[in-house]
Amino acid sequence: MMTVCTPTDCPEVTAEHISAMHAKYLVERDRRINRNHNDQYIPASGKWATLYEEDPYTAVVPREPVTGETDVVILGAGYCGMMVAAQLKKAGISNFYNIDHGGNFGGTWYWNRYPGIQCDNDSLVYMPLLEETGYMPSKKFADGYEIHDHCQIIADTFGLRENALFHTLIQSLKWDGEANRWNVGTNRGDQIKARFVVLAMGPLNKPKLPGIPGIDAFKGKIFHTARWDYDYTGGSWRNPELNKLADKKVAIIGTGATAIQIVPYLAKHAGQTYVIQRTPSTIDERNNRPIDPEWFASQKPGWQQERIRNFHHAAMERLAPGEPDLIQDIWTEISRNVSAELEAEGWPDVTMEEYAARREVWDYRVMERLRNRCDVVKDPETAEALKPYYRYLCKRPASNDDYYPAFNQPNVTLIDVAETQGVERLTEKGFVHQGVEYEVDCLIMASGYEVTNDLDRRWGIETIEGVNGLSIYDYWKDGFQTFQGMTAHNFPNMFFTGFTQAAANSSNSKTFVDQGFHIGYIASQALLRGATRVEPSAEAQDAYIKHLRSIAVDNSEYVVECTPSYFNNEGDQTKKRGIFGEPWGEGYYAFEDMLAKWRDEGGLRGLTLEGEKVTEPAE
Ligand code: NDP
Repeated sequence: MMTVCTPTDCPEVTAEHISAMHAKYLVERDRRINRNHNDQYIPASGKWATLYEEDPYTAVVPREPVTGETDVVILGAGYCGMMVAAQLKKAGISNFYNIDHGGNFGGTWYWNRYPGIQCDNDSLVYMPLLEETGYMPSKKFADGYEIHDHCQIIADTFGLRENALFHTLIQSLKWDGEANRWNVGTNRGDQIKARFVVLAMGPLNKPKLPGIPGIDAFKGKIFHTARWDYDYTGGSWRNPELNKLADKKVAIIGTGATAIQIVPYLAKHAGQTYVIQRTPSTIDERNNRPIDPEWFASQKPGWQQERIRNFHHAAMERLAPGEPDLIQDIWTEISRNVSAELEAEGWPDVTMEEYAARREVWDYRVMERLRNRCDVVKDPETAEALKPYYRYLCKRPASNDDYYPAFNQPNVTLIDVAETQGVERLTEKGFVHQGVEYEVDCLIMASGYEVTNDLDRRWGIETIEGVNGLSIYDYWKDGFQTFQGMTAHNFPNMFFTGFTQAAANSSNSKTFVDQGFHIGYIASQALLRGATRVEPSAEAQDAYIKHLRSIAVDNSEYVVECTPSYFNNEGDQTKKRGIFGEPWGEGYYAFEDMLAKWRDEGGLRGLTLEGEKVTEPAE
């Protein structure tokens, strides 16, 4: 029996209610669309470069530049870079470097150490390679430092440490067609020749700042949430008692998934907290709980993949008749309820359109439930301002038990800047809202990351040049051009990861594991066959893209109607490149099956191999 939302929890909604809400959603969207879209943000470069470039956590150790040859350079040592590295090892390739800006493994889980940081979705799904590392997460939503520590376990389990170059930024990648090698240049003076390069930087690598007029004028303390300054706030990553904030006035800009986790800590410790909100998040109850060791020990081999698949079905596709919801949280609530409805009706056959229509009704019910949660806030104006008016998943859903109650404290004030699309301006002493200056000691930028901005700005690598000096930024100016989302014509021996023209699992880490596997397969096959150059042919790439587009699912209406965010290019519909790139329309596991079939054929169909002795691999 499925756990369902009762009518009290999720009020029944009439057609009139849906129509009125739909109209309100559009009004709320429209007043937030900033005509500068992505350009409203300031990159963390120039004057703000230190907010990105400096590492407040680990001292940079001087080292000699690295030169010479390697089989693979992997850009990144976060989840994506680590998954690629682990899969290369499994495929028999050990001669590689993970090159990363951070001082250790972890990527986003290295940099983000803000108070309250936890994984927002099921740790048993999200934390990769649990069976391979034998690791049991401590609770449903693990703390950030636990995830970081698990990254170290992965690095040690797969022997990745000796291959890592930390505190190093790749600045240039140039293809040398004579030698069939990539020349890799870094900010540490390294000049490495690599047979293959894998771009594995993940989506949240580069912080961005809100382009508030006067941002240069503010004389107080400013930092981004991805570089938390515990010297200033007091406390530490593993013990965030922010005792130095007791006499401070703090403003936090942004109310996305990050800020929701931080605000309760500011409320507890700071003399005064201003929460500057343009769009409210949806915030469900947390219901965090320890993982039961007995239950964990009883799981059969393969349990994690099964759980990930179940999560993906519930969160992004659809649960099969009778398929239970193993996750039971906000991410799966709508599917769980649609399934319970279908079960009660004896599992009738429903088309995708009928299924989507049922989901839509549940979307309105769940959003009504989530809005009602705000009424715990005693000031009615604040409670109303905290209510999210958009379809579920327009913004990343959050869950937190302490966020709304914080607004009942006298030292916490919500500053609702929806009408003005942000605070009016910053001054030397603070911020101005509706003509009133609020003096603050510290501004915390919870303003997110360069997720959908132009690739050169987002990746921060000056030069990526393939055949005949062709820049990837020019080649992909009007959208991705790839074969299987992971290789591109004109960019031999280079692999791409993430949301390009591949498929996206609801759990990023799963996507990275599988992409690492596929990349490991191609690279190892090339080495086995003595190939020095591997590249998709133009014809194979064109055919791939043609097919990808022929099966694409059009969800543009949903996306366009969403309140702006990085999920929809900040409301800019002229740009083709959304957060998920151009995903495989038949679904994640159909994409995986297609790749498995392609590998099973054994001929690397669509790829052109060149080299000293291209042969079929020996058994
Ligand atoms: P987001 O991009 O989600 O949020 C940025 C916030 O800044 C938004 O609330 C935005 O408002 C606000 N903002 C931007 N400019 C201004 C302005 N001028 N005035 C006022 N507000 C402004 O960033 P986050 O760091 O919160 O989250 C990024 C991602 O990190 C998440 O989506 C998630 O993928 C990941 N994350 C994951 C966690 C996990 O558990 N795994 C936990 C935390 C984060 P508006 O919405 O109006 O644009």
